[in-house]
Amino acid sequence: MSQILKGGCYCGGTTYTIAIPDKLPQVVGTPHKVPTSILDHCGKCRKTSGSLFQAWIVVPKPWITITYKYKEGSGGKLVEFQSSAHGTRSFCGACGTNLFYDSSKKKAMVEDMDGVVYLVNVTIGSLDEESLTHVELVKPKLHVWWDHGIGWIKEAFTTAGQGFGGLAKYPTGDVRQSPEELI
Ligand SMILES: [Zn+2]
Ligand SMILES: [Zn+2]
Repeated sequence: MSQILKGGCYCGGTTYTIAIPDKLPQVVGTPHKVPTSILDHCGKCRKTSGSLFQAWIVVPKPWITITYKYKEGSGGKLVEFQSSAHGTRSFCGACGTNLFYDSSKKKAMVEDMDGVVYLVNVTIGSLDEESLTHVELVKPKLHVWWDHGIGWIKEAFTTAGQGFGGLAKYPTGDVRQSPEELI
């Protein structure tokens, strides 16, 4: 038995599944199991995601199956961009969704798997909404590249009462009401 997480890009041209065994294996020589979800504060992820930090789920590459559903002749495809000497980022060439980060450096021995396997970062936000309800699998457990993060973002994570929790909460993207009316 395994648990399947599903995701894909916004336009549906690239979809993927991640098959996760019921017993989560340990990454040998580390305190971490896979999948591990992380919040990444590095500058490369900030720029390429266009967001203040990037949330990833890290999984062994053999667990991922990618399916392409681009219409013949549409020109759509998964595009790879080499973002460093060892790293490649993939995004949908039709809708632009950020999907994967592969690195030739990210390889490890994983319990119950044969030999050395590559670990791939998958954007958590590209998971389907139903898959995001699997809290124990997808909820981030650690911050990486913390020293490269934006100061006020780090404060929002660490300073009691100074975080984002107190911000006005609009039920939709319509922000014409005054915050007092929301209560
Ligand atoms: Zn797409
Ligand atoms: Zn990063």
